[in-house]
Amino acid sequence: MSYDDHNIFAKILRGEIPSQTVKETEHTLAFKDIAPQAPHHVLVIPKGAYVTADDFAANASEAEIVDFWRTFGDIVAELGVAADGYRIISNAGRDGLQEVPHYHLHILAGRSMGPMLL
Ligand code: IMP
Repeated sequence: MSYDDHNIFAKILRGEIPSQTVKETEHTLAFKDIAPQAPHHVLVIPKGAYVTADDFAANASEAEIVDFWRTFGDIVAELGVAADGYRIISNAGRDGLQEVPHYHLHILAGRSMGPMLL
């Protein structure tokens, strides 16, 4: 799948629209979801132009991948949710109902998530 530069997360990365930054590193940006589904709802995205988790896994550099997952871990630690738990989700493509075609990880925490809805 080719990357569409006009997607909303690309605009956030370019500073064209605002976001509430949670953490920023060399290769990764995390910000609050605009329509939170839980008391904590953070989106973690690579700064590089990747569409899905599999695209990121196949094409990102090791530095980008390490930075992404370390940033994820740092956010979980900083939110203080590791003990009570959390859920991470990454929707991909049509069947995954991905809305924004820039790879992102949802971190949801602060309430019981309930069973997975399939
Ligand atoms: P997806 O369905 O996994 O692609 O989720 C996209 C997420 O992006 C949804 O949870 C939206 O609420 C969120 N979102 C859309 N636009 C913005 C924005 O401008 N700022 C922050 N989050 C957004």
